[in-house]
Amino acid sequence: ANTAPEKMSINGHFASAGQNGHADFENGVQVVDEDKEFNPDLSKYLQHTGVSHAGFNYHLISVFGSQSTGKSTLLNALFQTDFSVMSEAERRQTTKGIWLAKNKSSASGMADNILVMDVEGTDGRERGEDQDFERKSSLFALATSEVLMVNIWEHQVGLYQGANMGLLKTVFEVNLQLFLKDKKSASRSLLYFVIRDFLGTTPLQNLRNTLMQDLGRIWTSLSKPPGLEKSSIDDYFDFAFTALPHKLYQPEQFKAEVVKMSTRFKDGHRDRRRDAILGEFEGGIFLPEYHRRIPADGFSHYAEGIWDQIVNNKDLDLPTQQELLAQFRCDEIMREVIVAFDEAITPLETQQGDAARSGRPEVIAGLGVAMKGARASTIKNFETEASRYHKGVYQRKRTELESKIDSRLKALFAGQLSAAHKDGVQQFSDAVSGAVKAGQKKGASYDFAEIVKEQKKIALQKFESHGKEAMIEGLPWSNYKQELTLYQKDLDKISGQLRRDEMRRLATRVERWVRSKLNDSIGIEFNALGSGRGGSGAPEHGDKPVEAGIWDRIWGLFVNTVREAEKRFGDRAASFDASAEEVEVGIWRLRRKSWAVLRSKIDEEMMEGNLLLKLRENFEDKFRYDEAGVPRIWRPTDDIEGIYTKARESTLTLIPLLSRFRHSETGAPPPLDRWIGPTPAAATPADEEDLTPIGGVDEEEGKSLEEETTILNEAKRQDLTVRFKKAADGVYVEAKRSAIGGMTQ
Ligand code: GDP
Ligand code: MG
Repeated sequence: ANTAPEKMSINGHFASAGQNGHADFENGVQVVDEDKEFNPDLSKYLQHTGVSHAGFNYHLISVFGSQSTGKSTLLNALFQTDFSVMSEAERRQTTKGIWLAKNKSSASGMADNILVMDVEGTDGRERGEDQDFERKSSLFALATSEVLMVNIWEHQVGLYQGANMGLLKTVFEVNLQLFLKDKKSASRSLLYFVIRDFLGTTPLQNLRNTLMQDLGRIWTSLSKPPGLEKSSIDDYFDFAFTALPHKLYQPEQFKAEVVKMSTRFKDGHRDRRRDAILGEFEGGIFLPEYHRRIPADGFSHYAEGIWDQIVNNKDLDLPTQQELLAQFRCDEIMREVIVAFDEAITPLETQQGDAARSGRPEVIAGLGVAMKGARASTIKNFETEASRYHKGVYQRKRTELESKIDSRLKALFAGQLSAAHKDGVQQFSDAVSGAVKAGQKKGASYDFAEIVKEQKKIALQKFESHGKEAMIEGLPWSNYKQELTLYQKDLDKISGQLRRDEMRRLATRVERWVRSKLNDSIGIEFNALGSGRGGSGAPEHGDKPVEAGIWDRIWGLFVNTVREAEKRFGDRAASFDASAEEVEVGIWRLRRKSWAVLRSKIDEEMMEGNLLLKLRENFEDKFRYDEAGVPRIWRPTDDIEGIYTKARESTLTLIPLLSRFRHSETGAPPPLDRWIGPTPAAATPADEEDLTPIGGVDEEEGKSLEEETTILNEAKRQDLTVRFKKAADGVYVEAKRSAIGGMTQ
């Protein structure tokens, strides 16, 4: 039967392209060529004709029958296709392999996207190898088509031994083989007999009966596979019949009947089947149950897989093929939808990544909207295309897709929260500091605790609104509870830090106040030394010099001043929610710092020059004035020397007195250690690092409380004594001179 002469293709696939068609698909597409090669251009053809995106809304018809029975001629008339037909002159087989074309007829009422497969017919004269192709093409047609059209001459009806009967036997056998494994789908097909050169003398009804009897006999004669012995032909097939007059002898009637016939190619329902069988059909022949449920966009791949199995004589297992197809297509669709997802999401990932790497994490405005939109449309697009495929595979692939895109969305979500966290913490800290600064500018009466509370509220609201915006409803990972808790903790930590800063500022203010207070009150105490009659109005009692109580008074002033400062500090600190521990540390620091202030004030007063001046004033006051405070006019009879000695000795007692900070009665140093107290447990190294060590308090300093409270050392004391005595001597000499001078006047 290998009469195919011309092979014009160089790539082997399109062997008869030169004869039958072009790359522009004028004549449809050759699905399988005469060398039984599958042509992957089928996919392009379906794209080209717009069928690819039809989903299930397409129909497949295969046409069988002996060669040269006018099949291609009929298809072209019915569907306005351009299948090549045998030229009247040459009389040789033209259709090679299997061709497919889309219905081009615009006749109203026809179903959408009818695809017709014109199958190379068997030549009744030569069998053998043809039977192999017949079998393979039947199998292929049954695996794909809803309707099998069988073209048959009227005069062959009832010829049980005729060529067509061989073909039908093959179709039945193949059908059993095919659907044995696929009982679940219970695929049915319509066998549509077209009786040609119908004379009209025998009613169509009679021809139908004859044909059905023959078909029944063929079915009975089949050796059926185990389990299907009792199956009936009606379990698998419906039947329809149309009779057409001779095209050449009755061209007008032929035309009219073809027009009538074309109206049958529409969607139908089972309750119309009886009509269909009777050939007086008004409803459509395309019943839903005939459809092989291969989505149009997967048809080419499916057909190729099926053909591959058939050609290699493998057992054709349709459910497996459908699963393989589903995997292939779902993967393809996934890749397609991810391209669109990438377009929406990759720029956001880049933006977020760049910001994070630069150390300035950025909250991306509208991220949630973009993520939700991209996710919804990606899944929707996938669902639209992929849900038509094998349900199990589809579900699995959908889950795979979701986890793929969700892992990226999850990272974006986490990045957004992290940016909102870092951003929020910074803004919070800036806002609190700013408000404090503004408060300081206006005056000291700002409420730190209120500022923190207010800013914390704002910061939490902002974070929550970012979190909510970026959330995708219904996804377990898409929540920010944990992050919010961490954020809150960080805000609290920063609040604590800011509060400590605020405490420091407060402490500085209070220390400044202590310094100025002590400067005044301690200064007065020392100035009073110069009068020789005690200081700060302290009462005199007995013969004890008023100076003797100077340290008692200084300690008392000091302790009272600091107590007042403590109260100021404590009250203010409490107003901004400082903890008891923080207040305790603050007061401890305040006492230590105040001591340092006092100590430096004392040192300043006791600088050599200052002290010498004070001693001299003290001495002169005692020497030059009498008990009543009246200035003395020296006369030669006065006991100048006695008065001088008394005054000098009295002032000299101040030197050891002032040298050491001691209680006037007990002679003990002030209870600095007890008064300052031990280092509070809550004090941190930072709290201690700017403190001056205090002898007797900080034991590791190796300095005792006595040393800490020793103002002048022995050498200084002696030096001072010598210098004071010289100064006093000068005054004495001058007095002596003036006494003598007064007498000579
Ligand atoms: P195919 O091989 O079955 O596809 O047949 P073709 O469509 O190529 O036609 C084969 C020959 O039959 C051509 O010469 C046609 O002119 C002729 N032919 C077409 N329609 C009819 C018909 O209705 N009756 C008869 N007797 N011949 C026809
Ligand atoms: Mg043909």
